[in-house]
Amino acid sequence: MQNIISLAKRRGFIFPGSEIYGGLAGTWDYGPMGVLLKNNVKSRWWRDMVQMRTDIVGVDAAIIMNPRAWEASGHTQAFTDPLVECKLCHRRFRSDKEEQVKEHEQEHGGTTEWTDPKTFNLLVKTYLGVVENNQALAYLRGEITNGAQVNFKNIVNSSRVRVPFGIAQIGKAFRNEITPGNFTFRSIEFEQMEVQFYIKPEEREGERWFEYWKQNRMDWYLGLGMKKENLRFRDHAPDEISHYAKAATDIEYHAPFGWSEFMGIHHRGDWDLKRHQEYSGEDMTYRDPDTGEEFIPWDIETSAGVDRSVLFLLIDAYRQEENRVVLGLHPALAPFQVAVFPLVRNNEMIVKKAQELFGMLQPRFMTDWDDRGNVGKRYYAQDEIGTPFCVTVDHQSLEDGTVTVRDRDTMLQDRVKMEELPKYLQERIYGE
Ligand code: ATP
Repeated sequence: MQNIISLAKRRGFIFPGSEIYGGLAGTWDYGPMGVLLKNNVKSRWWRDMVQMRTDIVGVDAAIIMNPRAWEASGHTQAFTDPLVECKLCHRRFRSDKEEQVKEHEQEHGGTTEWTDPKTFNLLVKTYLGVVENNQALAYLRGEITNGAQVNFKNIVNSSRVRVPFGIAQIGKAFRNEITPGNFTFRSIEFEQMEVQFYIKPEEREGERWFEYWKQNRMDWYLGLGMKKENLRFRDHAPDEISHYAKAATDIEYHAPFGWSEFMGIHHRGDWDLKRHQEYSGEDMTYRDPDTGEEFIPWDIETSAGVDRSVLFLLIDAYRQEENRVVLGLHPALAPFQVAVFPLVRNNEMIVKKAQELFGMLQPRFMTDWDDRGNVGKRYYAQDEIGTPFCVTVDHQSLEDGTVTVRDRDTMLQDRVKMEELPKYLQERIYGE
């Protein structure tokens, strides 16, 4: 874990939030490499969930909503964690996280005294309005789900979607986490990517789509090259299932700090639409235009953390070899897809040719340029940030227009014609 945190800092993936002021617990800033990686994760997700499907449409709802929406969804009441306080040092822990409780007891030599569990609401409050004493309480959304649910009718009425269909969304959520930690794993501000998938309210349909989304999500992470042995399903026990769900499964990742929740697949039934109907007075009934059937659909949700995805992708991709550190990220997710090097920086012709090549690749791929030191050092630096291909322009390039393409994982080199390079890279990065 220490290796990941130090690489993340050193190479500009993730920094502690407002670090020069001593930081703010549970907040993180993404640096030049981190923002590229994170954007790639989100756009890959959007591509696979929205662009490549005909049954899912997108939404981008406001972070601050009418507070009634949070009453309807049950968050003002039930969005709580049970908390115990250590009587010796007054630090607070979630009483449902037994490992953390035990770990803390170890810090006190094996035992301590705890207060009785108290519940804390995780919603982050904010106040709207400029006039002091006359401000309205609002919440920063604790999950992005509500923004999709409240737009159910708008989306049905404004697009040609038919049940079964999904609403996809990516956006920030905020939680007053009591024990933020394990790097970005539990933050107070984080991003989620979710699909609310609406189906007919029938048991068999529910089971079928629940199984479908479980497998679909697992396959997605495997398709990004994550190691199978580091991923598993964990079904929620009946006493653990959230207030809104009929069934729930997590995909867990085998992190250095133990098996940890990566994302959730939740059978939410008609909880959300019914509650919003009740609290808003808006009829949420869906009418099938072909069959005339009327019903309030059930919702199968897949909810993943963007930050947890970035963290687990980094951990999964990190490997230390004899002479180098490699981030074996999927080529489409790596911050840079390709780096261009002039073999030497003091040969005008070579530099000019390399610049030409850089100009050709830049509009198509996130392309890095490096002319420092020797080529070996540049490879080392690119391996560490996961760049799948390094292209070197050398003396031969001036004669026959070919360049050397070096593969991050095999370290093998190919000689490719410059004009064929975009196609060559496209196939290897995106598989198309
Ligand atoms: P946990 O049990 O770890 O607190 P949760 O069950 O409350 O998570 P959900 O409400 O199901 O999580 O949220 C869906 C996803 O959002 C999680 O699987 C995770 O990837 C992400 N997520 C939730 N809370 C956080 C957080 N504090 N920091 C980063 N990501 C989070």
